[in-house]
Amino acid sequence: MQHYTADALVLRVQEHGANDKLLTLISADGGRFVAMLKGGHSTKHREAAATEPYTWSNFEFYEKNGFKWVKSASALETFPGLRYDVEKLFLAAYFADIVYELSDERAPAGEILPLCLNALYLLSAKTGEDTRIKAAFELRAAVIAGFCPTVGACADCGRPISGDCYLDVMNGALVCEPCLSARTALSPLPEIGESGTRHILCPLTGSAAAALFYVAQAEAKRVFSFRLTDAQSLDLFARAGEAYLLHHLERGFPSLENYRRLCSFRR
Ligand SMILES: [Zn+2]
Repeated sequence: MQHYTADALVLRVQEHGANDKLLTLISADGGRFVAMLKGGHSTKHREAAATEPYTWSNFEFYEKNGFKWVKSASALETFPGLRYDVEKLFLAAYFADIVYELSDERAPAGEILPLCLNALYLLSAKTGEDTRIKAAFELRAAVIAGFCPTVGACADCGRPISGDCYLDVMNGALVCEPCLSARTALSPLPEIGESGTRHILCPLTGSAAAALFYVAQAEAKRVFSFRLTDAQSLDLFARAGEAYLLHHLERGFPSLENYRRLCSFRR
């Protein structure tokens, strides 16, 4: 029987039959895959912790009847801050869904896996940073998916962006305020374009645009290393990040709906 090991992030856990669990995992080299966890294992404390959703663990597998089974598992990083805060846990579920969406079976995971691990680490370790982490994760995920916005300068006049501007979500470009006024003076922007797609213009302050530029261009390890100090800029950056990712992935996520519902219920 062939045995092998891999470090993997637990994206999903589904009950399977009376006792077993079906784990959806992602590893750097192996990409996304599923493995079965035998019921008896869940009674072992060490393995129960290692196979919780959004845990980074070292797994030992064996193949049987063309299927992967977990032989043993030990947690490398449990992200403990997620386990005591339901809002963070719901956000982690959304991150995991994005990773699922942007990964393939048996193809190397690429940048989306370290991005998610960094996001989970910060979510677990920091308080009061969830909105910033979520928006940076969303924007960078869109970049990884191939939708890098052009954010250095205004798409219309080519001048560097310094103050208030708009993110033209459909076209992945920034437009400065005078140019947007010029555009709308020529012909009012229809909310639904000719192709049936919706025009989305997200207003941004200069600081929010600078954050967007930073996240799109930063070295993979440094994506979250920026600050947004004023509440308005943070709010606009967060709206733009979410709108940009969802528009380009052309879908919504029930996990995001759950997170939003929980946030509105708590505020
Ligand atoms: Zn302009």
